[in-house]
Amino acid sequence: MSTPTSPIPVAVLGATGTVGRRIVERMVRHPWFDLVEVAASERSTGRALGEAWHDPDALPTEVRTLPLRAPAGPFTAPLILSALPRAAAATIEPALVAEGRLVVSNASAGRMDPATPLVIPEVNPDHLELLGPAGTPVAGVVTNPNCAVIPMTMALAPLHEAFGVQAVVATTFQAVSGAGLPGPGSITMIDNLHPWIPGEEEKIAVEPNKLLGTVGEGRIQPAEMVIGVTSTRVPVLHGHLVDLSIRLRDTPSLDAVRARIRSWPGRAAELALPSLPPQPLRLADRPDRPQPRLDRDDAGGMGVTVGRIRECPVNGVRMAVMAHNLERGAAGAAVANAELVVRTGRVPHAGGQG
Ligand code: NAP
Repeated sequence: MSTPTSPIPVAVLGATGTVGRRIVERMVRHPWFDLVEVAASERSTGRALGEAWHDPDALPTEVRTLPLRAPAGPFTAPLILSALPRAAAATIEPALVAEGRLVVSNASAGRMDPATPLVIPEVNPDHLELLGPAGTPVAGVVTNPNCAVIPMTMALAPLHEAFGVQAVVATTFQAVSGAGLPGPGSITMIDNLHPWIPGEEEKIAVEPNKLLGTVGEGRIQPAEMVIGVTSTRVPVLHGHLVDLSIRLRDTPSLDAVRARIRSWPGRAAELALPSLPPQPLRLADRPDRPQPRLDRDDAGGMGVTVGRIRECPVNGVRMAVMAHNLERGAAGAAVANAELVVRTGRVPHAGGQG
């Protein structure tokens, strides 16, 4: 296990966006990283980061005055956190890898690429093997999953390990901040619900099987859960709630399911990553939880709350899971993956050569 002896220089792409801003905020107070470069679109190039910030005084002067670079750089940081839109990520991230950078990306562009690790540290840290062995600096892309997939898969992981998950029907209730800027207009969201989020159901149906798959010989053998999804957008600011109806191979009691959720240590406990809470899942102790407004800020936004565990007359087990989409589902997820690549000794040397 590797712990940095001096701060690692990082760059943030999409630093003025909904997710990028939260990555910047996490970087500013992070014990391992030194934010040295920021970038946004061509529209913003040349402005100081503080000029594009909602509350510039909240940023330290040296960060406030960082110039916004062009999206493709040049950058000196060996480690780059990307909150780019999908299309921009698809061209810019591979170019940065070709220069020798390690890119930790929020974008969906590379998630299902067979050579690209899709990682939640508590679920599948071993999938980083796709990049090469631990302790070897490397250029490449590491992605985090879709913001609804993260809480959903974290609730399924302990059940899959213990009882085998065969099929899942997932219905999401996703916050408006999940749409990025400018987001859906208030006139379409107030007193309303959108029963379809373009492109979302396709991601939620496939990413959990990659995450819960096994790695070997340079490839992932995906899990074989059958997943049906309905994604909805609801008038909540932050926090995605997912209702899960689950069919298991075994027939554990509901108490056994609760105990498994409550006691699951995850697979990152011994890594002691600074952004992760000590316990990956929190079992709600009241029947009317989780609720986005009450539970999303648990553990600095990194908490994942499970509740409403009950019998499902169709599939066997039913539950709800909720997490902050911009923190656990995006910015915090990327920062945790950045911590994981540091801990496992994979960050290229400064200057970017792997
Ligand atoms: P956003 O609020 O629209 O922000 C986009 C950022 O990218 C801004 O900094 C913008 O800069 C920059 N940008 C826009 N077009 C660009 C281009 N052609 N080239 C380079 N930079 C460009 O989006 P977001 O919600 O933060 O999402 C960012 C990424 O994270 C997306 O891939 C999204 O799918 C993913 N994600 C989002 C969430 C969420 O809950 N929102 C969760 C998980 C993953 P300007 O300010 O100059 O326009």
